[in-house]
Amino acid sequence: MDWEPREQDIEWTKNVLDSLEVNQDWMEGEMAFRRTGDATLALLTRTERAEDAVDRVKQVLDVLEWELDEENVKVIPDDPIAAAQVMQQEAESWMCPHCNEERVVNMPLENSVWSIQGQTNYVDDEGHTNSHDRWVVGVVCNCGETVHLSPDDYYLVAGEVNFYTWNYADEEGRIFSARVMSPEQIVECVDEGFMDKLNAQHLGSSLGDHVVPPHMRGTYCLFVEREAGEEE
Ligand SMILES: [Zn+2]
Repeated sequence: MDWEPREQDIEWTKNVLDSLEVNQDWMEGEMAFRRTGDATLALLTRTERAEDAVDRVKQVLDVLEWELDEENVKVIPDDPIAAAQVMQQEAESWMCPHCNEERVVNMPLENSVWSIQGQTNYVDDEGHTNSHDRWVVGVVCNCGETVHLSPDDYYLVAGEVNFYTWNYADEEGRIFSARVMSPEQIVECVDEGFMDKLNAQHLGSSLGDHVVPPHMRGTYCLFVEREAGEEE
């Protein structure tokens, strides 16, 4: 390969590395890295076709005297259906990191709690460091400990319906669920004349004291109170 890193490639990568804390992840194109030490980066995942891209990152890291650990990389097939299957299988094998006895997929995933935990930094194409809220989804294991998943990981284990259901507590501590209505459901309710009887509304970016998770903003939701102790 006759690719040579340019000065700006080296500079840009250095900015990214400087902004990463140990154990923080860096997504770049179809690659995911994690800083594992002072000058070490582990490649977590890449697609099949990102092989050359990884080689280029490695060349830049060589110049910066960083090491790339590729020992545990998961290679994701380029074919989207095969890739989805690999991710799904992987997600089904996740265990509770606290007791290591319960599979995440078997936890009461419908009782999830979305919250913001700090900020994620990223460097844009112009080399500016930006940050945005880092959302996590908490589910409680049988062992009593809360497992925090990234929104993407939660989607993988819990599926679309749970992903588009947001649970929150009101001032009195009652638990409500906002469930995104599909266009078909909305049409059906309008046709049947149910719409004004339903507790349904558009979600904005906040509701009471709550910040609404980004994927729920602008959706039309049905609000239902969850019965105390509702567990499936
Ligand atoms: Zn557990």
